[in-house]
Amino acid sequence: MKIVVLGAGESGVGAALLAKQQGFEVFVSDRGAIKENYKAELIENKIAFEEGQHSEKKIFEASEIIKSPGIPDKVDLIQKLLAAGIPVISEIEFASKYTHAKIVGITGSNGKTTTTNLTYHLLKTAGKDVAIGGNVGYSFARLLTERHHEIYVLELSSFQLDGVVDFRPYISILLNITPDHLDRYEYKMENYIASKFRIAMNQRAEDFFIYNSADQNIEQFLESEDVNAKRLPVGGSADDSDQRIIKTDQHEYDLSKSSLKGKHNYFNATCAIKVAELLNADAESIQRGLNDFVNDPHRLESVATVDEVEYINDSKATNVDAVFYALDAMTKPVIWIVGGVDKGNDYGPVMTLVEDKVKAVICLGIDNEKLLETFSPIVKIIEETQSVDEAIERAKVYAESGDVVLLSPACASFDLFKNYIDRGEQFKRAVDQINQRK
Ligand code: ADP
Repeated sequence: MKIVVLGAGESGVGAALLAKQQGFEVFVSDRGAIKENYKAELIENKIAFEEGQHSEKKIFEASEIIKSPGIPDKVDLIQKLLAAGIPVISEIEFASKYTHAKIVGITGSNGKTTTTNLTYHLLKTAGKDVAIGGNVGYSFARLLTERHHEIYVLELSSFQLDGVVDFRPYISILLNITPDHLDRYEYKMENYIASKFRIAMNQRAEDFFIYNSADQNIEQFLESEDVNAKRLPVGGSADDSDQRIIKTDQHEYDLSKSSLKGKHNYFNATCAIKVAELLNADAESIQRGLNDFVNDPHRLESVATVDEVEYINDSKATNVDAVFYALDAMTKPVIWIVGGVDKGNDYGPVMTLVEDKVKAVICLGIDNEKLLETFSPIVKIIEETQSVDEAIERAKVYAESGDVVLLSPACASFDLFKNYIDRGEQFKRAVDQINQRK
């Protein structure tokens, strides 16, 4: 059997390594350039590959294609392969055939990485034999080429779920569904929703489906479609009270010592705790894990307090829903740095929060027209900037003791930055500089 892997990023290379280990003939094809470290790995493992092109003759010899999540179904090559009757699956699907471990699959529009990291951390703290991967860190396939674990906690994007056929998590979490990536789903929300629900489509009665019961898109889908797994609703992030106590059927947990802030993180933590309990982690370890959990950077990350003004880096907030929860979590007046590449944003949901909490809007982007138009009627101070340094300088002018300067852009970063990490790192560097100048 010959496997062709399309795309040589982390998931493609992981899939190639696993396929090779399983004794398949493997060919990897990437239309762009392959990163040096991945190329070295392919060579070292004697896996044939090409870059800068897709040689159709070789690709059509495949008995199965493993497609990287970055390649949309609608591209010509994929359509032709499907028409030729060659199965096209995802790396997650392929990998899952080679393990009997318990899989925890986590998806949603926002909160995947946070919840995946926290779930892993709680299980690890409780001494479980667990690995983390998928859309975060190493690909699932690569993890399986190494030592086997009893539990895999996987972050799954909708693109990864699109190529799923038999993939079946023991526990799945569907955090929320808000508009994102609609360009890949024919601009139809129902297609995006259906893609997210693929996480549960193969689950059976003995499996668990944890979901956000305050999310209308999820609730509506569940009214008409069936999920076989045991449903475990979690009361959503729309709850108004600032709760720090999480009660489950088994225990009560305290979030006071946790670095996780905001209602959204209260919700994420509730989901993670449920998983930990289902996998028999003990309550004392779960509490310890909650207390010392450190999230990845760029997600409501408190960078420094300079002249009694706190600077928070939320560069990963690339859509309006994430900004909603960021603003909601703020307890002090906010100087809000926002902007970048607008993905068709509707700012309606944040208008009241902006009115209540935002003192000044600092636009950071090449095209700030929509922001100016939307927010100048409700916020007196609104300025345009085109670099992080400039944005922070302007923010500093308006920030008074006790205020917060929040970078929570609601937009993609590709106009001025390499990616959201670059944007967040530049923000942190600029804050460091003003801190040193003090
Ligand atoms: P993802 O991996 O889905 O992008 P992250 O955990 O990286 O999610 O968080 C992305 C952004 O969304 C951050 O700004 C974070 O504060 C915000 N966020 C995290 N959890 C949620 C949630 N449950 N609902 C809405 N926004 C969230």
